[in-house]
Amino acid sequence: MTTQTPSTQDVQKSPHVTADDYARLYAASVNDPDTFWAEHGQRIDWIKPFTKVKNTSFTPGNIDIRWFEDGALNVSANCIDRHLAERGNQTAIIWEPDDPTKEDAQHITYADLHRSVSKMANVLKDLGVARGDRVIIYLPMIPEAAYAMLACTRIGAIHSIVFAGFSPDALGARINGCDAKVVITADYAPRGGRETPLKSNTDTALLHCKEGLKCLVVKRTGGQTTWTDRDYDCNALMAEASDDCPPQEMNAEDPLFILYTSGSTGQPKGVVHTTGGYLVYAAMTHEIVFDYHEGDVFWCTADVGWVTGHSYIVYGPLANGATTIMFEGVPTFPDAGRFWEVCAKHKVNQFYTAPTAIRALMGAGKEWVEKHDLSDLRVLGSVGEPINPEAWNWYNEVVGKGNCPIVDTFWQTETGGHMLTPLPGATKLKPGAAQQPFFGVHPVVLEPTSGEVVEGNGVEGVLCIADSWPGQMRTVWGDHERFEKTYFGDYKGYYFSGDGCRRDEDGDYWITGRVDDVINVSGHRMGTAEVESALVAHAKVAESAVVGYPHDVKGQGIYAYVTLMNGEEPSDALRKELEVWVRTEIGPIAKPDLIQWAPGLPKTRSGKIMRRILRKIAEDDFGALGDTSTLADPSVVDDLIANRMNRA
Ligand code: ATP
Ligand code: MG
Repeated sequence: MTTQTPSTQDVQKSPHVTADDYARLYAASVNDPDTFWAEHGQRIDWIKPFTKVKNTSFTPGNIDIRWFEDGALNVSANCIDRHLAERGNQTAIIWEPDDPTKEDAQHITYADLHRSVSKMANVLKDLGVARGDRVIIYLPMIPEAAYAMLACTRIGAIHSIVFAGFSPDALGARINGCDAKVVITADYAPRGGRETPLKSNTDTALLHCKEGLKCLVVKRTGGQTTWTDRDYDCNALMAEASDDCPPQEMNAEDPLFILYTSGSTGQPKGVVHTTGGYLVYAAMTHEIVFDYHEGDVFWCTADVGWVTGHSYIVYGPLANGATTIMFEGVPTFPDAGRFWEVCAKHKVNQFYTAPTAIRALMGAGKEWVEKHDLSDLRVLGSVGEPINPEAWNWYNEVVGKGNCPIVDTFWQTETGGHMLTPLPGATKLKPGAAQQPFFGVHPVVLEPTSGEVVEGNGVEGVLCIADSWPGQMRTVWGDHERFEKTYFGDYKGYYFSGDGCRRDEDGDYWITGRVDDVINVSGHRMGTAEVESALVAHAKVAESAVVGYPHDVKGQGIYAYVTLMNGEEPSDALRKELEVWVRTEIGPIAKPDLIQWAPGLPKTRSGKIMRRILRKIAEDDFGALGDTSTLADPSVVDDLIANRMNRA
């Protein structure tokens, strides 16, 4: 890839990919994927080189996805061992604790990482974990979480991380779902100044699991826990363990991890990723999309309990020999300046977070940002939901000072890495659009009912992908039929994302929201994202969620939940003002029929608005809310039910 003058906002270093490179490489990647990925598959080290590149079928009844299938490799060797000669003393992980007034950050070098991962791998082996066994990781955002992931990969065990905010029920379901042999947990998980009793949650979960499971317990706070025969002290065992553990040779298509989706739309699915293709894809997207350069400090604020943490805290950055930050806390503790304080302290170059955090910090005011020196920032990223243009502009101006390209990355647990995203220095940015496919990704827009391919620009429909890419999930754990049905059942021959999109006049993609969320007002189909963005653009609105509800005349009416900015008071006058506002911003068809003031919105633990629940409340059918086990704060639902606007 050549380096030329950046075509958009200045990136202080020459970008890896220019606009011309992008056009050329993208065409090569979709026209001849075998040649393209044969070359880029070399970015990682293979114990046994692959001779086959792509062997994939989206044919109904035979969904079969294999990449680099005769190659052998080890993920932990790629993320650690191969860097030792050159950068053994370089920081691999900067750990930033929940409470900076009580503890200091830790710098873990690649040599340290090698030692700790090898030790933990030997501890797991001693507990009887063998290649192909499943290990549940239920840990705070502490270095041990990364050690545990990499230790599993070192010995060929399959990890499944359960976010530390999940309840014993959710944990138990995931332990049983993959028939795990060992659970790795900690005494407590500090977060935002509070502590979750992980060990006691695990004990409760294990009441509903088979006998013989072992529990490896990391000491985080040193708080009191109960101890049983199945518990093992991780710190003590690691102190004794040998730091020599040769990496296991794994086939490219051996499972690397299982991860459940966040459950925004229903029952979470156990997504399976495999070894070779996933690592190539995570590493390549990390380097190109964030324009990562040697020596950069990279910070993804996600939790390793989400796919974003897998690909862009651990596997992508470490495969690239980067310095990656692991953050235990939350954006607003001890105060709303925490993100920016950490960026300044560690001279962060790439910062990657979610719209929900950006909206919350925008609500807190720009003074929190301006206190800190953010001059090292070069690229900003967003993931998880469509980012409202209002929040995009704030991120760009207040955080990036107009100098940092924003990459709005659309992807899913299922896709392993970025699918649609601008590239810094190569893409002319548009606030709120995910814009262009990454290399090897072939998006198509389908007409939702007929499933016909919609050609040309200035069109809208459901987003599907026409061909496989290396980071694609391979199956749903233990249920290949569900995999086929969920992702290939509705539109034959295509991977169906579940999201709607628009391809604008320039050929740029905009995610319009989940297909389940589309509302049909008097025959006009509308994505919820657009109405929400219009509401958020009003100066008094902090956040909003829009759903449809049955309407006698229009078929569906528009029901908007609105959270006001700090200090703003709800009133009928403001309600009228917002109706008029949306009318002028989008058009009369988009005017909300009902507006409910919402002190808080129901969100998944990863911060996504759960419209499925809001739809039920709007339909006055709150007796049937469905699975709410992945909600971050179930109590907000009670308030919304009590103050619902559409009563029979
Ligand atoms: P479930 O599949 O269980 O309902 P989920 O879809 O929320 O849960 P994830 O895989 O964490 O689980 O999220 C992927 C989804 O997040 C995408 O399908 C899309 O709806 C949304 N999303 C992610 N990034 C973006 C983005 N940059 N722009 C718009 N939407 C995004
Ligand atoms: Mg999903």
